[in-house]
Amino acid sequence: MLDVKEIRKDFPLLETKVRDKLPLVYLDNAATTQKPKCVIDALSDYYLRLNANVHRGVHWLSSQATDYFELARERVRDFINAPKTENIIFTRGTTESLNLLAETISISFLDEDSEVIISEMEHHSNIVPWHIAQKKHKFKLKYIPFNDKGELETEQLQNLITPKTKLLSLTHISNTLGTINPIKSIIELCHKNNVMVIIDGAQSIAHLSIDVQDLDCDFYVFSGHKVYAPMGIGVVYGKKELLEKMYPYHGGGEMIKEVSMTATTFNDIPYRFEAGTPSVADTIGLGVALEYLKKVGVQDVIAWEDHLMHYATERLQTIENIRIFGQSNNKSSCISFLVGNIHHFDLGTILDMQGVAIRTGHHCAQPVMQHYHIEGTDRLSFAMYNTEQEIDIFMTALQKAIAMLQ
Ligand code: PMP
Repeated sequence: MLDVKEIRKDFPLLETKVRDKLPLVYLDNAATTQKPKCVIDALSDYYLRLNANVHRGVHWLSSQATDYFELARERVRDFINAPKTENIIFTRGTTESLNLLAETISISFLDEDSEVIISEMEHHSNIVPWHIAQKKHKFKLKYIPFNDKGELETEQLQNLITPKTKLLSLTHISNTLGTINPIKSIIELCHKNNVMVIIDGAQSIAHLSIDVQDLDCDFYVFSGHKVYAPMGIGVVYGKKELLEKMYPYHGGGEMIKEVSMTATTFNDIPYRFEAGTPSVADTIGLGVALEYLKKVGVQDVIAWEDHLMHYATERLQTIENIRIFGQSNNKSSCISFLVGNIHHFDLGTILDMQGVAIRTGHHCAQPVMQHYHIEGTDRLSFAMYNTEQEIDIFMTALQKAIAMLQ
């Protein structure tokens, strides 16, 4: 079991008073997590002691910065059990990772005859890049539907796959429904049909133990800021044999071997996909965050968050006229709900007045809202530092809000 009281001491922001007076109850972790002090210290330490551009310099400071930067790549490799550091590309976040993949995979592997499958429970960042790429590359886009419990209709996947299908891009955990998709069996089915698979790990990186070799996914992407690391840093994991065949995304410094007035030859992976000066401090911060999570214990964190989700679900189910969206038995880390006809925004606002931070709206997953014919939901989402007591405070605030709004 986690020593949550001790863990909370590592996160200075949790002591913040809302509007200078109310204790903060932060239940918006699916949007972003708070940062432990070791990560914040790593950022200031970088700028105090190490700041130099990486990879390019012969001088001592640059080689120090490069060593720390590449250590972060090794820490990411280790955390997701990628075979080598060359499989790890740094980006600005999940959104940039998915845009990179949509563009480079389209150029490298797709044509007008190709088909790409995504699902109806994707975050917009795993829908819109495909719409944009589709406009240029003219492939066909298909969707796996989900049922009212919020579970993918995986039996439909076999029918959606045709000899023209080249790629499936799927979220591991829905940021709205909390559903954990059965990606291992889906990946197996896809590979039997020669279909590549991208996994959007934005929500799974902090709440499941990830082993990309065991999953056998072709690509896995995530954002640092959802796993206790700084904003502005993200990752693409890709299989070497695919990355090596892929055309670059951004052009610029670092990603080249040679440039003449007429032509460019590209650098080896992963640098081919990392044009320009990277966010070095944030990258180092990501490495530190992953080490922190490992030290706390990934399995213990998963068990604790699971306990919190079940505790909160049980308590929410006592509320009259509540609808919980996402009823899968295989669920993690967040709960979306509506109470009667109360507008999600009004409820969120009155909770905020009591110091409780939850998210309201469509959660960048409008097709999920369209499935249920709603505009948005209220969503609470958990991290390692949340407590039962915070859920009790949330419940009291919720009951007050309902009394005011009904
Ligand atoms: N995919 C999922 C499932 C998400 O939850 C999010 C963030 N809410 C994203 C993609 C986009 O992540 P980012 O904004 O960090 O790029």
